[in-house]
Amino acid sequence: MVLLDGERIVAVAEGVDPPEGVEIIDLEEATLLPGLVDTHVHLVFDASADLVETLDARDDEGARDAIVSAARTAALGGVTTVRDLGDRRYLTLPVRGAPGLPTIVCAGPPITTPGGHCHFLGGETERGTDAVRRAVHTHASRGVDVIKVMASGGLLTPGTRESESQFSADELRAIVDEAHDLGLPVTAHAHGTPAIVDALAAGVDGLEHATFWADEGIESPDDVIAEIGARRLPIGATAGFAPAPDAPLDEETSARVPAIVANVFRLQDAGATIVPGTDAGVHPSKPHDVVRYAVEQLVLLGMPAEVALRAATSEGAEVCGLGDRKGRIAEGYDADLLAVDGDPLADPSALHAIRAVFLRGDRMR
Ligand SMILES: [Zn+2]
Repeated sequence: MVLLDGERIVAVAEGVDPPEGVEIIDLEEATLLPGLVDTHVHLVFDASADLVETLDARDDEGARDAIVSAARTAALGGVTTVRDLGDRRYLTLPVRGAPGLPTIVCAGPPITTPGGHCHFLGGETERGTDAVRRAVHTHASRGVDVIKVMASGGLLTPGTRESESQFSADELRAIVDEAHDLGLPVTAHAHGTPAIVDALAAGVDGLEHATFWADEGIESPDDVIAEIGARRLPIGATAGFAPAPDAPLDEETSARVPAIVANVFRLQDAGATIVPGTDAGVHPSKPHDVVRYAVEQLVLLGMPAEVALRAATSEGAEVCGLGDRKGRIAEGYDADLLAVDGDPLADPSALHAIRAVFLRGDRMR
């Protein structure tokens, strides 16, 4: 029995009668989980085949509608907390706290170099340590919850390369120092080994992707992996692919996937915290409720189900800075709940058999 009062869980008990006068919702043989957490989404992207052009064609009002619609898809799919690691011009910030939408942790537009990865989102900064400090300051004054920096190039942006760093080591350190002075954590999008090494040296609080992408294939440097593990750094593994038969991954990426997966498990064995930061929104295989697939697929790849489920709930919440009120079914925690048929510990595909979703106490379905 989970007793809710407004937005909170006020008691969790087994084998007791409910108090007099409460409304009883009997979910019968369902398994009750904490609502899922996705630590890396882009609500502003609509997971269409031409998402960059589609976004480009939207004015800010249209983009705001797309953000709300994406957030609603997440909520209905059992995702009750998301960390948005890149919107356009801070459009996601005013949506935080809206009823019927997941709890949203916002980075605003990712900080990137002129013409750099995802520059079209409006987060370009001039070069140099003073300029990047100002960029962090601007983000803080707009009210972001976390700083996202594009330490390397990326897939979505022609003219940038995954293997290449965007910022100097000094610039990255300035970004992290300024953010920490302002009380904000920093997570770095970093594919190539040099960008990962510089981000580590700068003292980032987490890494996104961390694929060790090289011009030829994928690297797997023992010393860097050991250091990430020793720091217990959170790694947003870009796991989770929903069926999208009309939009296969490009060949260059597909060929690298086995080695990227091997690195995820090496990082975990070394001590890193692996969370499914799915990059929801960036591809037709990445709808905004894709994190259920991440859990299922991580288990298929060999992660114990309880580890994968914790990654998508309590550990994800911790990474979002919400570990004290999200990701657990416990007294005092937010009433974010997912009820599914079957037992996801025995068969993680049970996560798709959704019977009910509660969002801060409100039943969504
Ligand atoms: Zn991303």
